Amino acid sequence: MGLSLFGSLNCFSESAMTSPSLEKVPFVDLSWQHEPLKAEIAQAVAAVLQRGDFILGEAVAAFEAAFAAACGVEQAVGVGCGTDAIAFGLTACGIGAGDEVLLPANTFVATLIGVLRAGATPVLVDCQGDTALMDLAAAERAITSQTRAIVPVHLYGQMVSPQALLSLAQRHDLLIFEDAAQAHLAQREGYRAGSVGSAAAFSFYPSKNLGALGDGGMLVTQQAAVAQTVKSLRNYGATRKYYHTEPTGTNSRLDTLQAAVLHLKLPHLAQWNQARSQLAQHYDHHLKPLAKQGIVPIRNDSGAGHVYHLYVIRVTPHCPVERTTLQMAVEAAGIQTGIHYPVPCHLQPAFQNLGYGAGDFPQAEALSQEILSLPMYPGLTPAQIERVVSVLYDQVTQASLSPKAG
Ligand SMILES: *Cc1c(COP(=O)(O)O)cnc(C)c1O
Repeated sequence: MGLSLFGSLNCFSESAMTSPSLEKVPFVDLSWQHEPLKAEIAQAVAAVLQRGDFILGEAVAAFEAAFAAACGVEQAVGVGCGTDAIAFGLTACGIGAGDEVLLPANTFVATLIGVLRAGATPVLVDCQGDTALMDLAAAERAITSQTRAIVPVHLYGQMVSPQALLSLAQRHDLLIFEDAAQAHLAQREGYRAGSVGSAAAFSFYPSKNLGALGDGGMLVTQQAAVAQTVKSLRNYGATRKYYHTEPTGTNSRLDTLQAAVLHLKLPHLAQWNQARSQLAQHYDHHLKPLAKQGIVPIRNDSGAGHVYHLYVIRVTPHCPVERTTLQMAVEAAGIQTGIHYPVPCHLQPAFQNLGYGAGDFPQAEALSQEILSLPMYPGLTPAQIERVVSVLYDQVTQASLSPKAG
């Protein structure tokens, strides 16, 4: 059963299944982590089939306990996706209608959707250009008498400074809710992602640092009451079967099958993160000569605690090649890239009713034009990184020899 079962679960790219040639460099290769775990995954799935406890089965509670311990928190509650973890978590923390919630403008829209789903009023804040992290001075200026919470996003795998967050929260009596969807096991200033605030949300979208074979998410918290409310919210708002107390409850549980797979992957996570960090250092080292040509990596202010969900460079206005041109050339050379994210939240058509416009968040807007995410996953090789950088190097040198044609 092992092989055919795995075959039916396999949804990864073609290139991932062939041996990684030096030529093509995939952005992410999920088969790299799943291949060696095939037998274990089949076994875990077989065990769930045997028990038949597909909804909130024993693997869910077991994984919740293991994940809470890994984050250094008391409680973890598995939900359907990271977006629901944000919405449920804020609701459970008592954040809702009439409450202003600070969040960065340059995040994946799910952060904003989560805040809106909780019924709160989102207040967007600009970021720092060099780290792409939420600008806490700008956040402080945006505080009003209605501000109740701040949702820092540990973007690309780097935590927003816990000390700065805690001191801001203390000065203004704010609740901290971390969006840690890109930062499983990240650390900074002695804190682990998910342990800084009242609660935090993680995502297990397949390409996240810890990914399921489908969707999944987790709410973590030190507070038993918050965890209890999220358990109700994920299960139709029920406190016990057929007794419903939470009006915003819905159906959003972490599948038993996903929990079983995530649980067997969890022991590998620290090592995978370490590999990402080493590969990032390799990129940093080889990209150094391109700094004077205007290509600079997003700055790492947290050393080995940065878990590099993404490795992002900025193609600044000093670069002789424009970002889009550079990206097209790199893709033509068989190197997959991404842009995280091309449109900041405040300029998305869906959220025009929030009343923001172009020019409101200059750093976030500039970044969206400059950023380029390069291939990053634990199985990437130093040779592949050197190839990516040499393609960038060739493009930039060619362009600086001829006048700027874009
Ligand atoms: C992935 C992600 C989410 C949402 O998680 P889903 O599991 O896809 O719902 C939220 N915030 C950030 C920053 C993310 O990267």
